Amino acid sequence: MNIVNDKVTSYLDSFYQPMNENLKILREEAEEKAVPIILRDTEACILNIIRIQKPQRILEIGTAVGYSALCFAAALPETEIVSLEINEDMYRTATANVEKNGMTNRIHIKLGDAIESLKELKTCITDAESEGFDMVFIDAAKGHYREFWDESIPLCRKGAVLLSDNVLLKARTVSDEYVTERRQKTSVRRMREYIQYITKAKNADTAILPVGDGIAISVLKR
Ligand code: SAH
Ligand code: MG
Repeated sequence: MNIVNDKVTSYLDSFYQPMNENLKILREEAEEKAVPIILRDTEACILNIIRIQKPQRILEIGTAVGYSALCFAAALPETEIVSLEINEDMYRTATANVEKNGMTNRIHIKLGDAIESLKELKTCITDAESEGFDMVFIDAAKGHYREFWDESIPLCRKGAVLLSDNVLLKARTVSDEYVTERRQKTSVRRMREYIQYITKAKNADTAILPVGDGIAISVLKR
């Protein structure tokens, strides 16, 4: 079930403004191929969060075709983005899209399991306060958000913002009545545990918005 009323979504989407012509086309292509890029309302919401926060370095977990990373880069002309992707085809497509948009100097995509890449990043960052990330966008395997969170925290500056996409999983997180397939069970259970975990975390304050497919906005304490 879509978590936002369909009429409300289509009303809000009627005001959607793509960042630029390239991203407009990239969204259409991704939607056509059913690549799970950020929804329009999610995009509008996240872009304004980053316009307010102005992160210098963004860590993205789950690149897909590079759509969200390119949106962030377009909204913040000085920001550097490190994005992690496990799928080789996605990685290749995203790399080509980054090149096409002239963003190779600001978007760095790493191929591999994000957990491994995060561990590797930890060895590169000696002082999180000066070299770390001030925003993390968690948008990869839905059953592994807790590990992504735990591995990201040491890479973050104080006051960093962690955004977790799709935390309501089309309402399956909210109630079993929306869980229609057996194979969804594990990721739903883990997402429920993740929400418990981040809302109780002593080192962060979290708000969950029923926007798109549910976004958790967490701010690390200073
Ligand atoms: N953030 C993108 C969409 C990402 S879709 C956007 O909004 O434009 C989720 C992506 O996460 C998929 O491409 C999938 O291959 C990738 N993924 C899944 N598990 C992963 C893992 N363990 N490590 C890295 N990437 C992963
Ligand atoms: Mg998503």
